[in-house]
This record gives sequence, structure tokens and C-alpha cells, in this order.
Amino acid sequence: MALHIETPLVESRPLSLIAERSVYLKLDALQPPGSFKIRGIGLACETYLARGAQRFISSSGGNAGLAVAYAGRRLGVPVIVVVPETTSNKAKELLRMEDAEVIVYGASWQEANAFAQSLLGETDAFLHPFDDPLLWQGHASMIDEVAQTGYKPDAVLLSVGGGGLLSGVVEGLQRNKWHDVPVFAIETEGAASFHAAVNAGHTVELDSITSVATSLGAKRVCERALQCAKEHPIHSVVISDKNALAACERFLDDHRILVEPACGVSLAMVYDHAQMLEGYKNILVIVCGGATTTIDQIRDWSGKNRIQPC
Ligand SMILES: *Cc1c(COP(=O)(O)O)cnc(C)c1O
Repeated sequence: MALHIETPLVESRPLSLIAERSVYLKLDALQPPGSFKIRGIGLACETYLARGAQRFISSSGGNAGLAVAYAGRRLGVPVIVVVPETTSNKAKELLRMEDAEVIVYGASWQEANAFAQSLLGETDAFLHPFDDPLLWQGHASMIDEVAQTGYKPDAVLLSVGGGGLLSGVVEGLQRNKWHDVPVFAIETEGAASFHAAVNAGHTVELDSITSVATSLGAKRVCERALQCAKEHPIHSVVISDKNALAACERFLDDHRILVEPACGVSLAMVYDHAQMLEGYKNILVIVCGGATTTIDQIRDWSGKNRIQPC
């Protein structure tokens, strides 16, 4: 049995009314570890276990690390997650709740990742957050589920960090023969590494990440993500943090589900930029989720929790 669940596909009345077209939501925010990542990471963990792995190692303090920790607990395999000192207490708590061993090391992700790599022995498997064909194969299952319902969108909206979700969704569209369904690949300003790659024609390393959408904070996308743009119709879109944050709050009111700004950015395209969807009647939004934030944090980032001077 797979480690991910089949998630609901629902028509959103509020978003459909705002966008003046039909908007369906694939609710991967409802996956047990809080995001779509368990689809690909679950498949990768099961595959590495079958190949003899006795321990899983990750260097993600975000949703990828959470998915590894969840998969390890379910499969009875010990998990080590190495995270930098900047990782929030909330993220560390969530990892420990899944029985992962959390090692705090270094000031940056690069240092934590280097330490994680140094721990790797013969019987360990390292789980990359986005650059692994097993991940893409696993993520593609969300499109299989949509196709099995008989609903076919005429555009798919999703967010891009390192490009694993994009690569997986394109694989899903291709294997269901939906070559004619374009993808809007959406990022926040300050984390737009896919946009930079599409413009340059090759992957590009950003100097820094300045967006609050930390789950989109890969400085360079995987090569496969750029290859997808050559094989499939993809529109790269960049949206502000402000709109992504506002979309998280509106979505909580509209659908009673809290998502990270990394996911809010796709919803912001519907809430604030529906004019870019001109010509498309049936929109599918991948509600990719995210478990590492709280409504207080989102309001802090938006500047709404500031005490007003009297
Ligand atoms: C990982 C993640 C993304 C980005 O996925 P990539 O595969 O890195 O492109 C978007 N949203 C959430 C909530 C995530 O956890």
C-alpha cells in the first residue's frame, strides 16, 4: 500500500466566482505529512528500502524532511534529518513527532547538507527534496487520480521550488496523454529560479533567496524542470510575496485549510491575476499544502500582527 493517500478533487465555488471560470482544487494539503511531497518521497523510500536501505537521511527542515520522517516511521526505518540552526522550532517539533532524529548543524542549509552527506554509509539512502526520477514518478500519481475521475482541466496551476512537483505533474500529464494541457509554473519574487532558467535557456543559480515562501527557496532548479519546458507547454509566472500571503488568508476563510505561501502563490494567481487565465475555462489548481507555518506566522509576514501605536 502506498504511503500517500488519494486526495479529494473539489470544485471551488469561491475561486470559480472570483476567476469567472471553473476552478477545481487537487487538495494535496490533506496528505498526512501536510504536502504532496509524500507521493514522490514515499515511493522513493519504499524503493530504497526494497533495495536494502536500513536508514534514511535528509537535510530538509521543510516538507521534504517531514515526508521522509513520516515514511520512515510508517516503514519502520530510522530517519536522520540534519537541519541548519535557522530551522524553526515548529519544524523541528514536527520532525520529532514523526520519531526522526533531528541533528542541528551549521548556519546554512549548505553546511547542514554537507554534514548529512558525510554521515552516509553503505546501507543509508539519501532522499533529495526534488531532484530524483523516483520523486517525479511518485508525484505524477496526482494527475492519474484526476484523470480517473473523468474530469479534464484545460490548464494546471502549480508552484515551483526546485522543480520536482513540476517534473512530476508533467510526467503525469504525459502518461495520461494530456499533452495539450498547459501548466502555469508559479513562483514568488525572490525565489524565481525556474523563471531565471527559462529566460536564460539553462539552469541558473540565484545569489540569494529573499522570499518568505521558504519551500520555494531552491537557488537552482533541477535540469529536468527546464527540460519539461522544452517538451510541454509551460508558462512561467512570478507573483509577489504579498499576494501569496493574502491568498493563504483568503483560502483559509474560503476553504478552511491553512497552506504555506509556497502554495498560496498558486492560489494568488486565481485570486489576483485571473486575467492571465484568459481563454481557459477549466482550471485545476494543485493545492500542494505545506505544514511548516502557522496563521500567526503568515500574519506576521504580512505585517498584520504589528502592535499599532496609540
Ligand atoms: C516542496 C514544495 C514546493 C515546491 O516543490 P518543488 O518540487 O521543490 O518544486 C511547493 N510547495 C510546497 C508546500 C512544498 O513543500
